[in-house]
Amino acid sequence: MRIIFLGAPGSGKGTQSKKVAKKLSIPQLSTGDILRAAVKEGTEIGKQAKQIMEKGGLVPDEIMVDIIKSRTSQDDCSQGFILDGFPRTVVQAEKLEEMAQGSGEKIDKVIYLEVDQKKLIERLTGRRVCSSCGAEYHLKFKVPQKDGLCDHDGEPLMHRSDDHKEKIINRLRNFEEQTSPLIDYYDKNALLLKVKAEGEIAEITERILKIF
Ligand code: ADP
Repeated sequence: MRIIFLGAPGSGKGTQSKKVAKKLSIPQLSTGDILRAAVKEGTEIGKQAKQIMEKGGLVPDEIMVDIIKSRTSQDDCSQGFILDGFPRTVVQAEKLEEMAQGSGEKIDKVIYLEVDQKKLIERLTGRRVCSSCGAEYHLKFKVPQKDGLCDHDGEPLMHRSDDHKEKIINRLRNFEEQTSPLIDYYDKNALLLKVKAEGEIAEITERILKIF
């Protein structure tokens, strides 16, 4: 099964796609996580992506396509995968389709997580992430047991540099301009499934799993 999770920043793509991937026993490939790891390691791609990401911009399509090409050709993706954060532009979607045609491995479903814009800003500004394991918290909706520390490993929580208001506005604008055309793109292919992504995390997961 090859699945794409589509949604604005803060729509819960990461949270939900990880849960669904676990249930379906296929890997979840988050381009945001891959890029943040590259920045941390200081690789060539990381150096190119760092400033773009901090401003809330989009990393060039060629870089993203290469990342996805090499990641999806690894052994653990042979039974399928979930893409979180890719494609983010029509060019990326077209390249993905070319790749799929080449290998005979078509995309099966595109899950679009719908969330009201005001909610997105609230979710993103309050998000905190463990600096070590990446677990996510929220100042209001998912408070850690000990203030500022991760429940799993006790490491400090950080505020992602792109989760500040002006960067968030950029990211939401990019979503509207560059990514939202993909809703129509996949609707035309009859692959798109819309899911209301407001409410309890577990409820939303249930809604998504019902689709399978
Ligand atoms: P979110 O979806 O909440 O904005 P992510 O963690 O998915 O956050 O991505 C963080 C950043 O990584 C994006 O703002 C962008 O700069 C970059 N990025 C991730 N995926 C892509 C992509 N497919 N194309 C271009 N840039 C990307």
